[in-house]
Amino acid sequence: MLVFEKVSEIEAHLNEKPNNESLGFVPTMGALHDGHISLIREAKQQCKTVICSIFVNPGQFNDKSDLDRYPRTPVSDKALLSSSGCDILFIPSEKEVYPGDPQAPDVNIGNLETTMEGQFRPGHFKGVMTVVNRLFEIIKPQKAFFGKKDFQQLAIIKKMAFLKNLPIEIVGCPIMREKNGLAMSSRNELLSKEERREAGNIHLILSQAASFSGKYSVIELKEWVIDQFKNQEHIKLEYFEIVGQDDLQPVMDLSKGSVIGCFAGYIGKVRLIDNIEIMVSHKS
Ligand code: AMP
Repeated sequence: MLVFEKVSEIEAHLNEKPNNESLGFVPTMGALHDGHISLIREAKQQCKTVICSIFVNPGQFNDKSDLDRYPRTPVSDKALLSSSGCDILFIPSEKEVYPGDPQAPDVNIGNLETTMEGQFRPGHFKGVMTVVNRLFEIIKPQKAFFGKKDFQQLAIIKKMAFLKNLPIEIVGCPIMREKNGLAMSSRNELLSKEERREAGNIHLILSQAASFSGKYSVIELKEWVIDQFKNQEHIKLEYFEIVGQDDLQPVMDLSKGSVIGCFAGYIGKVRLIDNIEIMVSHKS
């Protein structure tokens, strides 16, 4: 696996590659786990060359202490990537990514940006779009791979690529989970054993809710989920919303195709998100 830290060096390397060689890109913030590696594997299935970036982007942290606490494990990340078929690792400093002031892409993604995560993490998606757009400019991949765990992020990157007319296919990949159902996340490292055990209940509650979709209305489902989280010792629910897959706007009834139930909550100071697809089955 080749490793580049400098923009000029990775650009020079990529310029030497034949134009018809497909390039798959997996942007990450490191502290890699099997969720990230599943994206690398999918990229390797679809593309000749796979590039992973590791960059903890300060612009997307609305909470400075969250940025300071964010786990950083570059040595084990490199070993994991090179044993997983990744061809190139790009691990730049902040100065390399932003030699001047970060420039947000000039696109209006409307209320995709202001709902759910956007409401609770103001400025977060501006930061995400800024860094992804900058990394796309440097790497110019044919395909870029994002996890459905960050469902709103995936929708926003798709919209940004569409509005900017970028020649990049955005590929959404399934959520990888721990044995107890907890969605894999770099932040899970910050949980105690007991918290990690309880965090498995997030997926349990969401999947039970999804299985009730034929019996409950949206309001009833939401109330049921809120009640379940009240019974958890460590998990503090921030929001649970049931939204349309594409526009991410709250739905009022469950009869209009498949929708997503989105969760955000805290265990101690650690913020976790997860989601579940809710297939609509009609009341009998
Ligand atoms: P992050 O390092 O948290 O910025 O994540 C980098 C990429 O990995 C994003 O596209 C995430 O959605 C994806 N990802 C993170 N956790 C998982 C997971 N458990 N399953 C699948 N993809 C994931």
